[in-house]
Amino acid sequence: MSREYGKETICIQSGWKPKNGEPRVLPIYQSTTFKYETSEQMGRLFDLEESGFFYTRLQNPTNECVARKICELEGGVAAMLTSSGQAANYYAVFNICEAGGHVVMSSTVYGGTFNLLMVTMKKMGIECTVVDPDATEEELNGAFRENTKCVLAETIANPALVVLDIEKFARAAHDHQVPLIVDNTFATPINCRPFEWGADIVTHSTTKYMDGHGMCVGGAIVDSGNFDWSRYPDKYPGLCEPDESYHGITYTEKFGKLAYITKATSQLMRDLGSSQSPQNAFLLNIGLETLHLRVPRHCENALKVAAYLEKNEKVAWVNYPGLEGNKYYDLAKKYMPEGICGVISFGLKGGREAAGKMMDHLQLAAIVTHVADARTCVLHPASHTHRQMNDEQLVEAGVAPDLIRLSVGIENVDDIIRDLGQALEAVD
Ligand SMILES: *Cc1c(COP(=O)(O)O)cnc(C)c1O
Repeated sequence: MSREYGKETICIQSGWKPKNGEPRVLPIYQSTTFKYETSEQMGRLFDLEESGFFYTRLQNPTNECVARKICELEGGVAAMLTSSGQAANYYAVFNICEAGGHVVMSSTVYGGTFNLLMVTMKKMGIECTVVDPDATEEELNGAFRENTKCVLAETIANPALVVLDIEKFARAAHDHQVPLIVDNTFATPINCRPFEWGADIVTHSTTKYMDGHGMCVGGAIVDSGNFDWSRYPDKYPGLCEPDESYHGITYTEKFGKLAYITKATSQLMRDLGSSQSPQNAFLLNIGLETLHLRVPRHCENALKVAAYLEKNEKVAWVNYPGLEGNKYYDLAKKYMPEGICGVISFGLKGGREAAGKMMDHLQLAAIVTHVADARTCVLHPASHTHRQMNDEQLVEAGVAPDLIRLSVGIENVDDIIRDLGQALEAVD
């Protein structure tokens, strides 16, 4: 589909393009494998000489259509689905950074991403330097090393709600000849398209707003096609030197702008296998069809709820970049003029204890380890998602011990506010 279509049209129409007599709705290709007439044809697929499907661990037509839709929404050249957002960030980095490599990462990334880089990928021989997202350009530049392969950050940090200065991070990355990878889960391409500001790779936990209904864990990686790996063959040998597992093909030579995603699919998916099930991709596609309607409503409701909380006497502080006076208000206006996200964080004057009590009194909002779906929900990161971190790490990650993360849904906003009001009344 042409990029000239608006995002609303892409949400609805992109991806599956039925030919004459084919199903109108994207079919679920519930098949592990695909049939060919000759042995030669199948062989060509294995040599990457021809594109086509042969085994769902690598590619599946349903997944392919949904990846294409996400790709068009972000304005990229190639995309792939993964089984989770964790797999997306893991593959996005590991595709270009092996043992001996180094990553520069924003300190406020999602707790799962923080662990992935600081604990698990460290065991794989990959080092990571954490930087403050508000660091000056000089401080940022100081984090790079000879062996740095990429920079990783989030458009809006979960749950710190720090808005990334994408241009500043892209500049620092490009000055050091490495790509900027942006996890765009919270903003979604409805509110921000990081490629337009210089990001090179975008990742998603599609589990959040893209699915939008809390049905399926999933992820996606999108490549802008803008980073020219072939200029740095020593830095990216995996892309620029022959791959012995594919009879010596060189991804950058053979696939040009598609090199990065082709390598991630044909090597990482083949060997590590975090593929999304076609059934989940089908459900994700239904979510995507209303993304452009849901996201603005989440933002509208969140702004009203944030304004309400700010005025409530039990509330000590509210963090929402859409509120005037918020530290990231100007950056949010620049990068996300139409809306930010549905997630708010706040703390109560009664601190950690009051947080638990208030949450126990909520009737509409549910306590769940999830954010960014149609239903309003709450979480206390210090006791839940981030409980493996010590207080110092919590502060570094932008998560105060009293922080309540509220994911505002798309119910009637007065009902959400009434629910919060009665729960706050129960707190001394
Ligand atoms: C949830 C989340 C992830 C991890 O995604 P899963 O789908 O849960 O694996 C990564 N990044 C961000 C910003 C998230 O919110």
